Amino acid sequence: MRLQFLARMPNQGATVSGMIRKVLLIVIDGLRPDLITGDDMPVLHALQERSWRPSQARTVRPSITVAALTSLGSGVAPATHGLTEARLRHLPRVRTLSPLPAELRRLGVGTTIVTPELPSAARWMAGALLRLAGVSRLIANSSAPLSLVEAGVGQIDGNSLREMVVVYLNDADLAGHAWGWMSAGYRQAARMIDRALACILPLTDDPERLIIITADHGGGGVLDDDHDHPHPLNDAIPLLLLGGRVAPGMARGEPVSLLDIPPTVLHGFGGAAPRSYEGRVIHEAFAQELVWA
Ligand SMILES: [Zn+2]
Repeated sequence: MRLQFLARMPNQGATVSGMIRKVLLIVIDGLRPDLITGDDMPVLHALQERSWRPSQARTVRPSITVAALTSLGSGVAPATHGLTEARLRHLPRVRTLSPLPAELRRLGVGTTIVTPELPSAARWMAGALLRLAGVSRLIANSSAPLSLVEAGVGQIDGNSLREMVVVYLNDADLAGHAWGWMSAGYRQAARMIDRALACILPLTDDPERLIIITADHGGGGVLDDDHDHPHPLNDAIPLLLLGGRVAPGMARGEPVSLLDIPPTVLHGFGGAAPRSYEGRVIHEAFAQELVWA
């Protein structure tokens, strides 16, 4: 018998596959990674130190919310899914995709989405889109970041079912459009989000939980108060992976894409991404395990 590192063998990452029971995916709309400093976002900065993160992560182009969230939910880039505007006539396209929640459902994993209260038209639209995509539950809460994060954590802690919980926070984006990215107003909105993130700290050591914190796009790249033009500052997003099976540290090398999140989530729950998915599993984020071979 010989002690080996499983992760160095060809089935790299096999140790995490199927080991995750809960994924908490927090999407902070419009959060620039360079705002995660000890002064501006001390909680997220501390979480970042305990996380696995790539030196660079990028969203899709166009760097707009509807395109990026559809990519997160479908595993494909906007050039493939075509949803670059929130219009009803685009809804049928969802049927041609393999939505992540539907893929998870096949594995017996539910999906809950926690969002700020939406105006009624948007709520109808979001509900229709999410039903088509196989989402089990939509929790629309007050728009305060703390209520939203608490609702997500409550859903994670509330049962032992295998589940992905997505918490969507939009205050930083609203402040960026109102006052400009990196303005005092934008920093203030980020600070409120940062305080709310303190309630996920107790989840980060559990080996059955995977926490992913990211954004749909940056901002201020070309116009101070927008993020849709192709520009590195609009493309750059934070990406942190936390949990008992994650190996902390910053990885150098190729930038990681927003499109790598859906295959990684499926892998954690023991599934594999459909062939249509354009990203890859982030195997290197997970700890190597000593095994007898
Ligand atoms: Zn925006």
